[in-house]
Amino acid sequence: MKLTYETRTLHTKHTFTISRGGASSWRVVTVTLTDEDGVFGIGEAAPSRFYGETPETVVAALEQFRPLLESIDPWCMETIEEEMHRALRGNSAAKSAASAALHDLAGKRLGLPVYRLWGLDPSRAPHSSFTIGVAPEPELRLKVREAADYPILKVKLGTDRDADILRVIREEAPDKVLRVDANAAWTARQALAMMDVLAEHRVEFVEQPLAPHDFRGLRFVRERATLPIIADESCVFLSDVARMADAVDGINIKLAKCGGLREAVKMIIAARANGLLVMMGCMIESSLGITAASHMAPLLDFADLDGAALLADDPYTGATIERGVIAIPREPGLGVTPSARVAGEPSARERRARAG
Ligand code: MG
Repeated sequence: MKLTYETRTLHTKHTFTISRGGASSWRVVTVTLTDEDGVFGIGEAAPSRFYGETPETVVAALEQFRPLLESIDPWCMETIEEEMHRALRGNSAAKSAASAALHDLAGKRLGLPVYRLWGLDPSRAPHSSFTIGVAPEPELRLKVREAADYPILKVKLGTDRDADILRVIREEAPDKVLRVDANAAWTARQALAMMDVLAEHRVEFVEQPLAPHDFRGLRFVRERATLPIIADESCVFLSDVARMADAVDGINIKLAKCGGLREAVKMIIAARANGLLVMMGCMIESSLGITAASHMAPLLDFADLDGAALLADDPYTGATIERGVIAIPREPGLGVTPSARVAGEPSARERRARAG
């Protein structure tokens, strides 16, 4: 196989802000693996500084993986993920991009979409939420109105005006399912104090109320909580899953955290073995990154795969979440094609529409 990659900048429609800060431009690395017959697979790395990655560390990791990727049999996906984990700790966005490209390549060679390789029924995917980032009240109202088509909203909290944010969003969306994500910003005392507010606004669950390593605090809050607690920043790798079992009710898996499609499926199985609910989330990613995650959506209880829906300039066409419904591409591999505006040619969806 031949490894090539390219760094590109994505822009969100609005500045996307969570408890740790915000931005409106996001750099990702597109990875291409091409085999001897010229068949290629693509994947995306969406590095997060919170997990120690930048586009530069992704490129450095890919260079470290180059000898492995360019010499090994591309069908040995299990070995490749294992070898990448052995070679480098962390660097999960880089690893997941290579993993996605390998699965795309395998699916294309077999003429099957990736979900078929796993024996999944695409109609079993849960609806995806759409995220409302932290913003001043007028912008919050605008964002909720813009999200009119999405039946489930995930509300970013972890500010000094969380109750006000929820009230405003509930006013604008009286009937939608609301979920909240505190992104590790609360103390146990604040989390308990918020329980009544969350119940008043009929919030379905709360994601990562406390600091990532505060397992005791999570257990304390969970024992007193009136709604499920989902771990995100606390649960990064497969090895984290079992220890979350008595601290939370579920886990939020992300490819950019765990480092590969196979690792993610193992985390889902481990979560099930430990009686945990399973959610899958994302970073700000293009449809390339989101589509890789979407192929395992039939295995989830909750999906938060809106990273590309938040973009102003998605360079790819793939999985969509129109009205919250996750439409996983039926084409071989990941089923992702360059967007019309980037490639100067019609997208897959436009071609399908033209073909009737
Ligand atoms: Mg989260």
